[in-house]
Amino acid sequence: MSNLDPHPAEVTCGADAAHRPTHVLVTGHEVALGGPRGLRVTRTLPTRTRRMVGAWCFVDHYGPHPVADGGAMRVAPHPHIGLQTVSWLLDGAVRHRDSLGCDQVVRPGQLNLMTAGAGIAHAEETPPDAPPRLHGVQLWVALPPSARSAPPAFAHHADLPRYTDAGLTATVLVGDLAGAVSPAAAFTPLVGAELALAPGTEARVPLDPGFEYAVLSLDGTPRLDGAAPPRGTLLYLGTGRRELRVGADGPARALLLGGAPYPDTLVMWWNFVAGSHEEIVEARRGWTAQTLGGPVPGYADRLAAPPMPTTRLLPRSAAG
Ligand code: MN
Repeated sequence: MSNLDPHPAEVTCGADAAHRPTHVLVTGHEVALGGPRGLRVTRTLPTRTRRMVGAWCFVDHYGPHPVADGGAMRVAPHPHIGLQTVSWLLDGAVRHRDSLGCDQVVRPGQLNLMTAGAGIAHAEETPPDAPPRLHGVQLWVALPPSARSAPPAFAHHADLPRYTDAGLTATVLVGDLAGAVSPAAAFTPLVGAELALAPGTEARVPLDPGFEYAVLSLDGTPRLDGAAPPRGTLLYLGTGRRELRVGADGPARALLLGGAPYPDTLVMWWNFVAGSHEEIVEARRGWTAQTLGGPVPGYADRLAAPPMPTTRLLPRSAAG
């Protein structure tokens, strides 16, 4: 998906981990993806209170929304650099096409992972035969400097490993959870896992005390570390934890995001993650001049890059 904010700010982030266990609820803000009755997303990263969790640098949660009532997705070709896009659905279907020629529908339980590296363009839309409701997340992982100039790649993973414990089924999208290792390409130590909780569950998820973590409430009323964060909110947990207690009275789902605290600072603007403002300016120029990414088969249109802002948001000096 694209950052469709018409006037996105340039955000400097990284190096903002809380180096201790903490409990910070990030409520995020709503972004409309087209029209007053259209699909709305709740963005919890980056926000003023939190920019990153490990290398996770962007979290949009959308739906559940009826496709027939303005909830269909159609995002025209747009570019990315310096990041991976992680597409995960709880309901519905989304068709991805990109400038490498990949054409892949993603459905619940499957992962679409695009590694932008030095540059790629892609488009996403609800296919005509999709189920009636759309519910999912779009996540970005910042690439480390060593992987930012790598060639772009796309992968679809339909068979992901699981970790189970007393009513909990954790599906590992990327990284490693208690020895369940996803086949998805990762460039920094991190984990992303869907936590599906059966009614009556009281379970524990093993954590790495060197990672920082957050949990996103997706569906139902999951209890996460004793809290019950509303759907679409992100509970930041900090570092120094060996386990996460999870529970639910009814069926519930949450997303666990974690990783080694990201050591570098980086710059995010529109659909780009880079090491400097100058690299962002260069990527914008490349997309506008049609030298970045390339055409996406099946589309005649493309998203124009917004104007560059005149101000920059600097990192917070202390983590919450
Ligand atoms: Mn995108």
